[in-house]
Amino acid sequence: MSMSALIPESQRRFARSVVEKLRNAGHESYWAGGCVRDELLGRVPHDYDVATAAPPEEVQRIFGRRRTLTIGAAFGVVTVLGPPEAGPIEVATFRQDAEYLDGRHPAAVTFSSAREDALRRDFTINGLFFDPLAGEVIDFGGGREDLAARVIRAIGRPEERFEEDKLRMLRAVRFAAEFDFALDPGTQEAIGAMADRITVVSAERIAAEMCRMLVSPGRERAVRLLLQTRLAEAVLPEITATATPDRMESTLVALGQLKEPSFPLALATLVGRWVDAAGAEEIGRRWRLSNRIIERTAWLVGHQDALAGAAERPWSALQRTLVAPGIEELLRLVEARAAAAGATSDDAACCRRWLARPRQELDPPALVSGADLAEQGIPPGPVYSRLLDRIRDAQLDGLIASRDEALLLARRLLEEP
Ligand code: ATP
Ligand code: MG
Repeated sequence: MSMSALIPESQRRFARSVVEKLRNAGHESYWAGGCVRDELLGRVPHDYDVATAAPPEEVQRIFGRRRTLTIGAAFGVVTVLGPPEAGPIEVATFRQDAEYLDGRHPAAVTFSSAREDALRRDFTINGLFFDPLAGEVIDFGGGREDLAARVIRAIGRPEERFEEDKLRMLRAVRFAAEFDFALDPGTQEAIGAMADRITVVSAERIAAEMCRMLVSPGRERAVRLLLQTRLAEAVLPEITATATPDRMESTLVALGQLKEPSFPLALATLVGRWVDAAGAEEIGRRWRLSNRIIERTAWLVGHQDALAGAAERPWSALQRTLVAPGIEELLRLVEARAAAAGATSDDAACCRRWLARPRQELDPPALVSGADLAEQGIPPGPVYSRLLDRIRDAQLDGLIASRDEALLLARRLLEEP
């Protein structure tokens, strides 16, 4: 729900006022979960969640129908709308999750106490409450200690908690990577024992976690943890089926070299040494990624060697790659791989010199089009794209410079056996 117009200070102030209002109406209320963790870590929370003893109808009554959304009320969640720069706040009634039936969703929820609400959460550092009026942390699960020790630890028995909800296994790795925390040994062991069951989680949720891991600065560690816990085998069998240690190691180091990569760039860097463009597309489809992301990832994988030997190649052999919209990411992929080998990439440097030229020179307008060929009486057909390609090459390599020369070349090419 994050919008770009949100101002963190306003969000925080509004989140405080929501707790204050609930408290004034007599209901125990706190900030809960990720926002408390983030504040204690000195990070700016992207949103604030409130947990309260007030049942949903009461929350709606206190804030008024016009300022609340009740789509989640069956699960105890009422969205309270704030000023535009503060955004909405989710107010959730303290609850306990009843039995998990499908390895992902509780069959029902029952409203309960703050303590039970804290203990149903996934990791100790995510189970903290904060009272913004008293400035006090409420810690039922040992989260503060684990924050200080920088540990991701399941609340309660890890096997049980992962049994309830398999997605938590990926969340554990993602939090460890995002915050550069260790995985508690018991928690890690439980993941290792249950990793293959991650596949009951929907593709979209798996992909969302993978995306967050791969764009985070901790992405190299994230993938190491995925490999160690064998989650990688379940979510990305492509890279583990034929994993030679050298190739994996250099891939991981290259991944770590990327600076603030897009998801396609990080994903292409990770899988590109095991799959081709079609294989990358298959992974994207399996994870139900958007077409835009799939196309860019597959393009990067398909072109990962397209800049090789750049300095010795004719311009026409490079130009189409260099004017493509993914070129900056491709250069960064090539540079990260070179850096992983302790080198700099001459290919990338050469291409960057090319790219510094004016656009007009890099991508001049075509000398002729299909219509021009038709005008010459050349019967339309598949031959057109071959002719136009060859004419374009000649133009880019400076062999021809006018429409007439292009048409002359077209006729000559047609006469070729
Ligand atoms: P971030 O928003 O940065 O991903 P977060 O901790 O806020 O981190 P959310 O998915 O927004 O994560 O969830 C908010 C809180 O809800 C968590 O801090 C945790 O207490 C609880 N929670 C979320 N997902 C689960 C889950 N799968 N199992 C148990 N508790 C969960
Ligand atoms: Mg959150």
